[in-house]
Amino acid sequence: MRKKIIVGNWKMNLDYPQAMGLVDRVIQLTDDAMKTQIVLAPPFPYISEVELQVMLRTNIIVAAQNCSDKDKGAFTGEVSAAILRSIGAEMVIIGHSERRTYFNETDDVVAEKVKRTLENNLKPIFCCGETKEQRDGGNQLDVVKTQLTKGLFHLNKEQIVNVIVAYEPVWAIGTGVNATAKQAQEMHQHIRNLIKDKFGANVSDNISILYGGSVNAKNAAQIFSCKDVDGGLVGGASLVADEFVEIIKAAELLNC
Ligand code: PEP
Repeated sequence: MRKKIIVGNWKMNLDYPQAMGLVDRVIQLTDDAMKTQIVLAPPFPYISEVELQVMLRTNIIVAAQNCSDKDKGAFTGEVSAAILRSIGAEMVIIGHSERRTYFNETDDVVAEKVKRTLENNLKPIFCCGETKEQRDGGNQLDVVKTQLTKGLFHLNKEQIVNVIVAYEPVWAIGTGVNATAKQAQEMHQHIRNLIKDKFGANVSDNISILYGGSVNAKNAAQIFSCKDVDGGLVGGASLVADEFVEIIKAAELLNC
């Protein structure tokens, strides 16, 4: 059975003391007996320190929010997958809609980043999802199919099993308007079916597909209880320890 995964994407928020305080509180309010995989994705400069803070916990790991599509070399300001791995990151969020929109990341760039993460033994959390216009036009299933095909389907079976998919409808990110459980389940089932067609049932049954977009303590249980939703990628609500832990607990109840 797939166990739930909850990822906290802090984005470009929190100064250093605030970040350390948040991790302390998450550690205090959760324990190692929980089956839910907790993933913290702080800004780059905090990764090592957060990694040290959670070192004694088996169910909390650290992710980066992005990495370079390049291997190494003269790319001032970039951070490679190899560097991230060397400081203890275990996962990288790839293709978040904010990267695609504000930093012009194309499907091809996203596909390269997926390759770099896997080459460096990091798991990519591959983000996909449609805009409001695309959903209003009834094109959401096709849009996500194209994103998966271009961004992930160049992988082989041994590689795809190390990928986590996050369905994040753009219209739900940071808006307070989450997808309904029905909308989430429909898309997650679609994603799982596409993966099944490409890689087979063994892969699709085991791959984790997270939902992201205005998840909070109130709506988490309902969304996570959908058959094909394996947890959440949480932005705003991951910045408040007590609320983030409520979301983790909602996932944990479904693991039992
Ligand atoms: C996100 O950052 O991926 C996200 C889903 O943000 P929020 O939870 O704030 O909508």
